[in-house]
Amino acid sequence: MNAVPFETTEVLIAGRWRRAAGGRTWLLLNPSDGQPLAEIARADAADVDAAVAAAQAALDGPWGGLSATERGRVLHRMSAGVLGQADELARLEALDVGKPLQQGRADALALARYLEFYGGAADKVMGQTIPFANGYTALTWREPLGVTAHIVPWNYPMQIIGRSLGAALAMGNACVLKPAEEACLTALAFARIAQAAGLPAGALNVVPGLGEEAGAALSVHPGVRHISFTGSVAVGRQIQAAAARNAVPVTLELGGKSPQLVFADADLDAALPFLVNAGIQNAGQTCSAASRILVQRPVFDAVVQRMAERYRALRVGPALEDPDVGPLISARQLEMVRGFLDLAQASGLHIAAQAALPEELPAGGFYLPPTLVAGVNPAHRIAQDEIFGPVQAVIPFDDDEQAVAIANGTAYGLVAGVWTRDGSRALRLARRLQCGQVFINNYGAGGGIELPFGGVKHSGHGREKGFEALYGFSSLKTIAIKHD
Ligand code: NAP
Ligand code: MG
Repeated sequence: MNAVPFETTEVLIAGRWRRAAGGRTWLLLNPSDGQPLAEIARADAADVDAAVAAAQAALDGPWGGLSATERGRVLHRMSAGVLGQADELARLEALDVGKPLQQGRADALALARYLEFYGGAADKVMGQTIPFANGYTALTWREPLGVTAHIVPWNYPMQIIGRSLGAALAMGNACVLKPAEEACLTALAFARIAQAAGLPAGALNVVPGLGEEAGAALSVHPGVRHISFTGSVAVGRQIQAAAARNAVPVTLELGGKSPQLVFADADLDAALPFLVNAGIQNAGQTCSAASRILVQRPVFDAVVQRMAERYRALRVGPALEDPDVGPLISARQLEMVRGFLDLAQASGLHIAAQAALPEELPAGGFYLPPTLVAGVNPAHRIAQDEIFGPVQAVIPFDDDEQAVAIANGTAYGLVAGVWTRDGSRALRLARRLQCGQVFINNYGAGGGIELPFGGVKHSGHGREKGFEALYGFSSLKTIAIKHD
């Protein structure tokens, strides 16, 4: 099943692949069977130093000298390169993250689309002319911030690289990317595609390493002008504190406990696939997973029963076999999510359905049966904590007021879905839901690369995706000219 020849990777600094400064490595595991997959060069503070210097040199050199149109063309070539290797990238993600092949392919296509979108946007970022006092002309320019740091998690490496590096490079920044310890292979493959597409040396540097080592060194580096972080709330707080040392802006994309609200007048046939898929996609390891399904009482039993049928039919298996649900990323993650199932059991919660684990699963893989828990009290930890596994809580409600109170009643606020045929109610609720995106009669809008994305409360701040991200990765300069 282990289809890539075991390889030893390198770090990319100033356009050159090399061993980590300290000569150290760590082993990457294949979550589908728990076997070693690759040996990853472990960048440390010295590599981070060199990477930031290389990025600064790129800004002062060929990369900084390109026009916006030329930058856009480079991104378009990178997009074509990713498309050309979509199947290979999907296979790497299957091996590295345990992501089912079709889901990995969707991530590769999303990465290509981000590069296409931001490539097209690069020369369409306009300033303003401002009506000001007589005898003046006032205008604004958007300029790159400089060296930007990108610290990404393991769950959607390609998508998060696309949205964050795509926008940063389109704006003319030079980037240092720190992939997650548990998922590095597509980040490294992407860097090779970028090189082949003609991205100048130093515009993208990749320093795989441990969070507390390479990640921490990058987040306090005085040469970094912006940090884009996607990951947990706990580390997000540390990143924001680190950024404060150099007084630089941060974008934090943290976790969520996102609800989908299903009203009695909803088109249940349309809703059903979205309700379940948004909980089990990528084995539930999705920041915008709909881990809470809020259902109005008259249709509560029907929704639980129909979701349960789908749960029982889910195929769990090794990622390369392209199941509905692959393994979790690691033994640690498996143990964490199992803890929540134990808690559900100990609290006497109703397990409405659990998918079966096939007997022939590789013994060392990190598999967990997708589990639907029904009738959960909104205050219970199962309905409050981010589980980050294929576990959904179904919660009943009576009316709009109660639905909004439950939906807003967690520490998070990333995404919400509303299913109703009442258009006024949908818009009324969309205003009252505390989150960064609301989907009405859909969930996720197919990835919505053009749609600004981000959270409120503990889900973070700042916006990525869409045109909005370009503003986050730029600095606005105002020019006031006095004349006769
Ligand atoms: P994590 O532990 O916070 O790690 C995220 C990244 O930060 C990794 O690259 C990690 O490196 C690095 N890191 C860890 N400690 C660091 C430190 N002290 N300084 C600098 N960097 C450090 O999160 P995770 O467990 O990988 O991912 C799961 C979490 O991410 C979930 O809470 C999920 O909701 C959230 N997430 C949010 C979004 C979103 O868009 N809102 C998307 C995906 C995931 P190591 O890999 O070496 O630990
Ligand atoms: Mg981690």
